[in-house]
Amino acid sequence: MESFRKIAELYSEIEDITSHKKIVETLASFLRDLEPEDVRVAAYLALGTAGPKFEDIDLGIGEKLGVKAISATYEIPEEIVEEKYSTLGDLGDVAAGLCRRRRSSLDMKDVFEQMVKIRDASGKGSQNEKVLFLSRLLGRSTPDEAKYIIRIALGQLRLGFGEQFLIEALAIAFTGDRKNARRIDDTYNICTDIGQLAQSLAEHGVSSLGRFSIKPGRPVQMMLAKRIDNFEELEEKFPGEMAAEEKYDGERVQIHVDGDRIRAFSRRLKDISDQFPDVIEEVHKTVKVQKMVLDGEIVAFANERIQPFQDLMQRRRKHDIEEYIEKVPVAVFFFDLIYLDGRSLLKKPYYERRALLEKSLEKSDSIRFSRRIVSSDLNKIEDFFNKCVEKGLEGIIVKSLDEGSIYQPGKRGWLWVKWKKEYVKGVRETFDLVIVGSYYGKGKRKVSFGALLCAALNKNENRYETFTKVGTGFNDDDFEEINELLDKHFVDKVPANVLIEKDMQPDRYIEPSVVIEVLGSQITASPGHTAGKNKGDKGLALRFPRFLRIRYDKGPAEATTVEEIRGMR
Ligand code: ATP
Repeated sequence: MESFRKIAELYSEIEDITSHKKIVETLASFLRDLEPEDVRVAAYLALGTAGPKFEDIDLGIGEKLGVKAISATYEIPEEIVEEKYSTLGDLGDVAAGLCRRRRSSLDMKDVFEQMVKIRDASGKGSQNEKVLFLSRLLGRSTPDEAKYIIRIALGQLRLGFGEQFLIEALAIAFTGDRKNARRIDDTYNICTDIGQLAQSLAEHGVSSLGRFSIKPGRPVQMMLAKRIDNFEELEEKFPGEMAAEEKYDGERVQIHVDGDRIRAFSRRLKDISDQFPDVIEEVHKTVKVQKMVLDGEIVAFANERIQPFQDLMQRRRKHDIEEYIEKVPVAVFFFDLIYLDGRSLLKKPYYERRALLEKSLEKSDSIRFSRRIVSSDLNKIEDFFNKCVEKGLEGIIVKSLDEGSIYQPGKRGWLWVKWKKEYVKGVRETFDLVIVGSYYGKGKRKVSFGALLCAALNKNENRYETFTKVGTGFNDDDFEEINELLDKHFVDKVPANVLIEKDMQPDRYIEPSVVIEVLGSQITASPGHTAGKNKGDKGLALRFPRFLRIRYDKGPAEATTVEEIRGMR
């Protein structure tokens, strides 16, 4: 059993050090001398917290309660405590100044356990209870101890270091080599309870690192996506097939199912179950297994449509939850499963995890799986992206389907790549293109078209060669007008003066007559289009096109030519 005095001395020593290296060494030599059980508590206390970060570590003690506790302990009126506070600026210093005790009877575990009690006191009368617990601790401490107890209780320890320093100190203390901090850090992404990790290192040294796995109830750090600057990079990153998923702009959520106990954690690993009782209940209804850990995104969702991020933010509350469940209904789009009935799936490839995900949970109105396509064709991925943007989404997350496509907790690697609409830039030229085909759309667009196949004029060959497929930028009036204009021009087969690749065949062919102005972002070589294509090689294609307007003033003969396009590359 280690005395609390020792950690108070450590705090005071560290307060005076500015060098990173020195702080880490001081921490390390302090930890090395402790019993493993004390190392656990010391790890939390060194960070000024009363438990792992995924538990609610806020003790709920504000300045007012701090003043009350000090006043009760030292039998001094609250006004005087407040007066001293305004002079000294730190309630910890106020407590230290009032404390007359020479000998302490506190050990680290006592303090820690009382802190947990303070934290857990809730409901009616809990404020008085918190003050009472805190005051009991102060009553047993020396001035220095009182100072730090108050600071911890208020969440104001401010020693100028965080988790990373502590991890380095653990590496030095229990593996003898600071370089092991990286390995500890990797494990910390999986076992996010710093106390448990520290204790295990104290007990078993570096060999303990391999022992940690996912455990329902203890969140793991979430895997992140890297960005690319150029859409074509997708081909390098994912040489074969890839999965492109809709990217939802909501709040990341990791849901842990352990029988009847279901909890939701945020990206910062905070327990957000109380904010989303509706989600918890729905998972309860739809789950088909005993234990699992799901990864997904919560969005505000009404009338089958994803609502703006701002709507979801209204659900970030502690009060009136019931009212807001009605006001801001939500849905979760799950995209990963990392633990299933006693087995960690972290090392399984993404396609396997995804397949298991779809088997382990029933879909419902508010429980969904991320929509996605699997393809090796960048044109198809681009189409999917354009549709996402048209729907109001931010973009796509493209995921590796390799054997090696494991789940990497806390890592931002090349297994997931994000492509957002704001990345789309580049030439930003406009082109006047001839409509040569149309593709059916979904929903409202079923009656008209979902996208138009557009061509440039190849003057040498005297024909129209396809250059892009436009599916965004149309409003309701545009649809109507274009439909009317095209009505007379639908034909049964490819017109003789139009060249279309096999993979690009539209649902309906249209003889060249209507010209539209299209804004585009990148001219690339593509096997899907025929513009400027010579035998054997690729044609030119315009990526991320957007409809601007109908060019009533232009006929197909005045369309942008392949030569002009070549000149822009
Ligand atoms: P950053 O990743 O740079 O920290 P951010 O929080 O704005 O920034 P983005 O980069 O925009 O996030 O995108 C990554 C986030 O996208 C993920 O953390 C996740 O919350 C969200 N997301 C939405 N849909 C998906 C999906 N289908 N697969 C994976 N992540 C998704």
